[in-house]
Amino acid sequence: MPDQAHRLPASPGSDLAFLVRYMKAPRIAEALQQTAERARVESWTYEHFLEQLLEREVFARQQQGGEARIRAARFPSRKTIDGFDFGYQTSVRKQVVLHLASLDFITAHENVIFLGPPGTGKTHLATGLGIKACVAGYRVHFASATTWVMRLAAAQREHRLDAYLRILERYPLLIVDEVGYLPFDAEAANLFFQLISARYERGSVIVTSNKPFTAWGEIFGDPVVAAAMIDRLVHHAEIISLKGDSYRLKDRHLTRQQDQTHTPRAADAG
Ligand code: ADP
Ligand code: MG
Repeated sequence: MPDQAHRLPASPGSDLAFLVRYMKAPRIAEALQQTAERARVESWTYEHFLEQLLEREVFARQQQGGEARIRAARFPSRKTIDGFDFGYQTSVRKQVVLHLASLDFITAHENVIFLGPPGTGKTHLATGLGIKACVAGYRVHFASATTWVMRLAAAQREHRLDAYLRILERYPLLIVDEVGYLPFDAEAANLFFQLISARYERGSVIVTSNKPFTAWGEIFGDPVVAAAMIDRLVHHAEIISLKGDSYRLKDRHLTRQQDQTHTPRAADAG
């Protein structure tokens, strides 16, 4: 009988394949044999072996979840913090942005506000932080201020503004891009105020604007509403003011300089 006690199954691992499939863990299935061989050669502990396999599955799922959240967030384009040239945009301290990228501001329900002229990297940085948040497991939604107001207005028309604001509470981070590109009428200003109030100390907002706070009274058509909104927005916020020339025109400047040196007549004419 001792023989039978030590007898290996007819085909070792055949049950494992079934069990792993049952668990819906395809990366474990993929890696099982190779990992087991390595474990034998390197005399791993049982715990280390299990950890290696589970890690593979968990990391892959996290990555997939991140990808799904990035798609759902509706970023206008994929921009990353890594892809931001802090050498060109010197008015923002890299350390500050890297600290934001640790996402402490989301757990603290704090806001981030990017102010500055067009092309200085506001949308890029807002998106970069948003993508970080998606990868870290947070639900994020990105839209322009105009789009947010349209959605809020539609919800109000259908008498479900409160319900809509409650749905938005499930998103730890909302991004409101381009506040100030278009002025708001009184209803839009009021709806936007309600959004910011609903988020206050409950969830994070990243706002970008090409206008300084002093011009927000004009944007919202009402200095009192604007002041109340700014008050809630900045109470717990990192405010980053970007300066300088538009990055979009970076290469055009070069071209223009070349034009001027090589074709003086064209420059005279222009
Ligand atoms: P803004 O929102 O301030 O108008 P964007 O963030 O849309 O500007 O930037 C305009 C374009 O220039 C984008 O394609 C962005 O990726 C790029 N860009 C701006 N600043 C930088 C930078 N410092 N490094 C790399 N790309 C940048
Ligand atoms: Mg922008």
